[in-house]
Amino acid sequence: WKNAPPTMRFLLEASRAYGDRLFVIHEDERVSYDAHYRAAAALAAHLVALGVGPGDRVALAMRNLPEWPVAFFAGVAIGAIMVPLNAWWTGAELDYGLRDSGAKVLIVDGERHARLESLYPALPALERVIVARAAAPLGEGTERLEDAIGTPHGWADLPDAALPPATLAPDDDATIFYTSGTTGAPKGALGTHRNFMSNILSSGFTAARSYLRRGETPPDPTPRVSLTVIPMFHVTACSAGMMGSIASGSTMVFMRKWDATQALQIIERERVNMTGGVPTIAWQLLEHPDRAQYDLSSLDTIAYGGAPSAPELVRRIHEEFGALPGNGWGMTETTATVTQHGGEDYLNRPDSAGAPVAAADIEVRGRDGVTVLPPGTIGELWARGPMIVKGYWNKPEATAATFVDGWVRTGDLARIDAEGFLFIADRAKDIVIRGGENIYSIEVENVLYAHPAVTDAALVGIPHRTLGEEPAAIVHLCPGCEASEAELQAFVRERLAGFKVPVAIRFLPEPLPRNANGKILKRDLKALFAD
Ligand code: ATP
Ligand code: MG
Repeated sequence: WKNAPPTMRFLLEASRAYGDRLFVIHEDERVSYDAHYRAAAALAAHLVALGVGPGDRVALAMRNLPEWPVAFFAGVAIGAIMVPLNAWWTGAELDYGLRDSGAKVLIVDGERHARLESLYPALPALERVIVARAAAPLGEGTERLEDAIGTPHGWADLPDAALPPATLAPDDDATIFYTSGTTGAPKGALGTHRNFMSNILSSGFTAARSYLRRGETPPDPTPRVSLTVIPMFHVTACSAGMMGSIASGSTMVFMRKWDATQALQIIERERVNMTGGVPTIAWQLLEHPDRAQYDLSSLDTIAYGGAPSAPELVRRIHEEFGALPGNGWGMTETTATVTQHGGEDYLNRPDSAGAPVAAADIEVRGRDGVTVLPPGTIGELWARGPMIVKGYWNKPEATAATFVDGWVRTGDLARIDAEGFLFIADRAKDIVIRGGENIYSIEVENVLYAHPAVTDAALVGIPHRTLGEEPAAIVHLCPGCEASEAELQAFVRERLAGFKVPVAIRFLPEPLPRNANGKILKRDLKALFAD
């Protein structure tokens, strides 16, 4: 087993160390570390028997089920490249992911199988489909995951399968995760075993370092219970979430589908210590009308990333939950976390996304992509470190444009202060330029969030004949709250320069539309201003 790839050794050693401790809870299923390892090893052996070898792509399209980590580790254990596909995608989008990756085997849940079945014959590379929790009888070339693992009696009675031999190096390919597709078509980021290991080690080390900096002793890593709400096909859930959980022998609670009421029930029932994922989850927990009815005393951390979060959220998490907020900046291309923020540091700088983790470097550069700008100046963010992926799968031009001399060009506009803390201003593609004046949407959104009636806000640019663009906002108000367009405009005018005040504000009766990774779909929102 010493030859197992680093990522798999991680689960293997955890199963030796923690045995019966719970790794995943999903509704009334409680699956131990040991059971997970056994299931993954058995599936790995089955994949080898099917002819899957190093470099072959194995796609995975599944909700957050206990079988997700089983399939993930089975593939990486034998050197296959795991391709987690977005379970929210339509049939056509999943078809794109399967074709783009050239997957030889697809592991799906019953729901996605029903959506995809008619597409299988046209996929040239696809040889086998393995279905977890199949609802209907399966056709040719298709088998049940339960049979592939040999689990007639569920998680309790798993065979003690030996891990197939595999000799792999840390820089071998492990995964293709697709970017969220917020600004264009999703791109497959090709990650290695080293990327994942670096992410876990540097995040853990950085957390310890922040205690040392304050002159405190870091606590021993204690097992924790986290409510994992973001989908596992998002690299943050897999890397920071799942791998981070294994590193401390912790338990992940999966939800079938996000629902704030159920989340509160689970936090109380399972004594959950941390949750979050994306800022909108934290907002929904805060805004829940019956929150006071639940015992949430176990909850000590609400951490998120992936999208801008307002200082208002940081304050409210601390005051109303008595929990510590946490934030992290990263991209699919960086295997999750590059900067990390928490504790006192975050409460003191609630508009920052934190400082780089150990081994990561960040720089803000000018338009030429070369000149490093002085502290406090806004420019494009570049990042470097052992967690940065090799490039994009099948996209040499995009790879050459984005991955330059060991650095990744992020497409985010940001500044870094003299102490090294990062402040994200906007995405380069979302910035509103009004008659030559830059308006960074996050600055205006943060002011709107500070208004007591606003729980969701986005700034977009709308076309103007002479100015080029003007700022406009879309907001969602808290239940029973009221605010007029003129009142919100006055609120912004009191706090920001006049040219940043939205010329129009639309009110949505529901929260703003987001993709599966918690990002507001600004491209769709612009249509609201078509008139
Ligand atoms: P695509 O690249 O396909 O358009 P995407 O950039 O949304 O989609 P991801 O890789 O999931 O895909 O997201 C990375 C982006 O998320 C970053 O570039 C940044 O804009 C945003 N982001 C991540 N973390 C934070 C954070 N803590 N604060 C603000 N923005 C963040
Ligand atoms: Mg991106």
